[in-house]
Amino acid sequence: MTNKKELFFDVIILGSGPAGFSAAIYASRGNLKTAILDINMFGGQPSNYLEIENYPGFSLIGGFELMEKFEEHADKFGVEKFPMVEIETINLINEVKEIETTDTIYKAKSIIIATGAQAKKLNIPGEDEFKGRGVSYCAICDGAFYKDKTLAVIGGGNSAIEEAIYLTKFAKKVYIVHRRDELRADKIYQQKAFNNEKIEFILSHSPKEILGTNTVEKIILEDLKTNQIKELQVDGVFPYIGFTPNTEYFNGQIKQNQQGFIETDTNMQTSINGVFAAGDVRNTPLRQVITAASDGAVAACSCIKYIESKTFVTEETKV
Ligand code: NAP
Repeated sequence: MTNKKELFFDVIILGSGPAGFSAAIYASRGNLKTAILDINMFGGQPSNYLEIENYPGFSLIGGFELMEKFEEHADKFGVEKFPMVEIETINLINEVKEIETTDTIYKAKSIIIATGAQAKKLNIPGEDEFKGRGVSYCAICDGAFYKDKTLAVIGGGNSAIEEAIYLTKFAKKVYIVHRRDELRADKIYQQKAFNNEKIEFILSHSPKEILGTNTVEKIILEDLKTNQIKELQVDGVFPYIGFTPNTEYFNGQIKQNQQGFIETDTNMQTSINGVFAAGDVRNTPLRQVITAASDGAVAACSCIKYIESKTFVTEETKV
């Protein structure tokens, strides 16, 4: 027997970024008793973005401000909100899905996973040691600390190139270190970076170690063509090597691709009945606020159809 409180919902949405809040708005407006849970404060990744200029309807808006608007919109439809929950276990398999936290057992007919993704780590010596003291995964949060400094951005995708360009607003020099000769980023970003006098590319190099005393002082690189090791004097290192999905509570229960992103069909249906996934956590070709919000809407509509079509047999689901 447990003395934990039990709460029951039609749908529980895990994660409160654009996918989560969009799903919450559609589900509650569709008359489902809806809860949104997050292990952090609400707002997801975009809350850390200084500016967003490609979310339709807003030519320029702060990320935090946009996510506040998402939350206010969900409030209007009576979504029940549970931030900062401490999850112990999640069971997706049974008809009644269960999320057990330190003080509550949340139960639902359906779950929408919108837990997003987080920056991938380089996993090299010095990375953890200097996190917050020269190693940063958020140019927008930390760029301003590097006025007239020299920085290394690691990666060759859109994020690395965009953020390197952003960092040139503050830094006197930004190296982009990439492991191949060719960049993965869209040509339009590549061209902007090539035209930026503060940016220097170091291609076919891989970071091996980050060194310093109190803060970062240098990064050790390996030339992948000659295997030669070189030192680069830098004040900060910004790894932008992609994202890894936040799925630690679901691993083993749900179908995921090789990188761990959750597989869904076009209705956001996962491999488990009654469980949907939306936004950056799923296998998707584009990870943007608008695509996450769109996924959330589709997931909520699929969830409404699922609940309407199903005869629930468990006593507590006959509400
Ligand atoms: P990404 O496209 O997966 O690029 C990751 C980069 O990091 C690649 O160049 C990769 O090298 C490199 N890399 C991966 N693991 C590495 C390691 N262990 N050591 C060194 N380098 C490593 O990730 P992203 O740039 O974060 O973008 C993610 C998604 O968001 C993409 O779909 C992107 O288009 C989108 N995005 C869009 C915008 C925009 O449209 N404004 C902005 C940012 C991101 P290889 O190339 O050799 O694999």
